[in-house]
Amino acid sequence: MKKKKCNSIKSLVICWALIMFVSAGQILAQDEMEFAVQENALSEKTEVRTDTKPALQPENPETTKDTAGSDNADVKVDEVDAVTTNDQNPDEELSETVKTTTGVSDLRIIISQAAENKTQFTVSTIGCAGKAEIGRVLFPTWTARNGQDDLHWYEGTRDKNGEFCITIDSKDHGYETGSYLIHTYINGQQGEILKVVGSSYNLEESQPVISMTEVLNNCFKVRISGISNRNGVSDVVVPTWTQINGHDDLRWEKATYVGNDTWEAVINIADYKQSYDTFISHVYVTDKNGQQKYLGATTKIIDNPFAKDPLEVTAQQQENDGSKFVISTQNCSKKPGIKQVDFAVWSNRNGQDEIRWYQGVLGANGEYLASVDIENHGFETGPFIIHTYIKGNNGETISFASVNFTLAKLNPIIEYDKAVLNNTFKIRIRNVGSENGVTAIMMPTWSRSNGQDDLRWEPATYIGNHTWEANINLRNYNIIVDAFISHAYLVDKNGKMVFVKDSSKTILQNTATVYGFYNYPLDKNYKPNPSDPTDWFGPRWGDIHEGVDIPAPYYASCYAVGNGIVEKAGFFMGYGRYVRIRTTDRYGESVSFFYGHLQEINVGVGQSVSKGQKIGSVGGSGYNAQRTYIDNAYGPHLHFGAIANADDACVDPEIWIDFHNPYSNAN
Ligand SMILES: [Zn+2]
Repeated sequence: MKKKKCNSIKSLVICWALIMFVSAGQILAQDEMEFAVQENALSEKTEVRTDTKPALQPENPETTKDTAGSDNADVKVDEVDAVTTNDQNPDEELSETVKTTTGVSDLRIIISQAAENKTQFTVSTIGCAGKAEIGRVLFPTWTARNGQDDLHWYEGTRDKNGEFCITIDSKDHGYETGSYLIHTYINGQQGEILKVVGSSYNLEESQPVISMTEVLNNCFKVRISGISNRNGVSDVVVPTWTQINGHDDLRWEKATYVGNDTWEAVINIADYKQSYDTFISHVYVTDKNGQQKYLGATTKIIDNPFAKDPLEVTAQQQENDGSKFVISTQNCSKKPGIKQVDFAVWSNRNGQDEIRWYQGVLGANGEYLASVDIENHGFETGPFIIHTYIKGNNGETISFASVNFTLAKLNPIIEYDKAVLNNTFKIRIRNVGSENGVTAIMMPTWSRSNGQDDLRWEPATYIGNHTWEANINLRNYNIIVDAFISHAYLVDKNGKMVFVKDSSKTILQNTATVYGFYNYPLDKNYKPNPSDPTDWFGPRWGDIHEGVDIPAPYYASCYAVGNGIVEKAGFFMGYGRYVRIRTTDRYGESVSFFYGHLQEINVGVGQSVSKGQKIGSVGGSGYNAQRTYIDNAYGPHLHFGAIANADDACVDPEIWIDFHNPYSNAN
């Protein structure tokens, strides 16, 4: 490496380009750049003089490649390679390194400090406003202590008056007070130095003040201001303990800087052995020389706040879910020293046979909450007793309250599964409870047709979340497609059966998806009268009308609604001429459709028919009064019926075929 001194304007420009590069690099790679500058910084010997002489300007150093420079496209690395030498020339005259133009010759620097902030001061130019030749202004700054260990390059920003200024905070200089050295580099638009001004500022040291805040969220703060000093601050610790049993719970609480020469340590009462005691805090400061110094002490007495304001607790039944109630403390927020809140809960019936303990959860409002589900209490409703224990740091009870609460009667809800799978549907009943609890739920169920001839006591199983579920298999009932009526009974803890609620479900499967599989049995312009209930499946004249009547003229063609086998063909009961065809529906279930009162029959038993095939024609055949078959027992119409799952019972054919809108069928 070759050394070269910066003793001409030409070399000065190169030097300046170097500084520009260095300061630009500071933004890009601060660590590397600070290192580079520091190495070229003035020795202590020089620093002494820099109060009056701007002398940070590095001599033209050895030039070597520095990869950081290549990040900046504006910098030609070949010309302004970074500094890597320690070579310095403190004796060099400042005048050699300063180029002054007429425009900036009268430029001054003022330094001011706002009264409300002890650690910040503002450096500002006077005389830059309106001068177009000024590109930017840099303020390298460091404290007199320990050389340029804390050197920072600040770039001035233009204020509203057109001057360049920068606010310096002692936290960026190790919280040091005393002498700050500030150089001001006025740069031209090309980065050339127009003027360098040296200044200094004495940051005053304050008297330390130690205080404590009020308790909030079980914490208080030890606040120390005025710590900054000539040797800086590297660490502030606040050893703290409670008075009872001496230092047994001593903790070294670390303080953090919060601005304006103030540090705070957060003391969480829960971290100590006592909830209510005298808390003692000492303050120690370690400076940048590693010297730890005792700064002072403070104490805080924390009393049991429940002595003056006894604990209050309430409970409320959940609106959306009456099987639950929420217990809440009412006056714990803002009270210090609470380690834990426990609620003992039991119903009034039969003593504490079902007592449960709930640990309070701290809510957003500072109160402690517990949610009680009667599932934990045998589904008992009515009077409950709640004991609340506030526990301190030692597990001691620091307050207690007993509260009575009555859980109102529940509104049970019965729900059905939409799906009927494998001929089975599910009934769920939830929100069931009684003052004597619930040990089981039974759901007697029957199909509506023919009364309770097929009543079965279906057990419901508890599936959690205060819900019971029963599985109803349609094949256990006389009629598969019908309204199913279910009553719910609870069995209480005394073995007594108590009616809860009734309900019913009509099994029509999902007609929207069933439609479209079968054809319509007639031409689509013939359909039942929508407003005449006697045309439709359902109760009629004290019996069930087991099918749909479709008015149509004599000899109107009747068609097979699906592929199938003819099961019956001929006179049958009151239906006169009758055809029954067995098919398989889209779910694989067997469904037979039958055609009554026909005029003609075009198929025979055992014959396979295909969807849309004519099987006969409309007539009015049936019995006369003497139970003899005649052709005109009725006006001409098709009686169309269905039998599901090869059962003898008829079901509503509208499950599979849309008579209201024939065009929604397959054909
Ligand atoms: Zn009929």
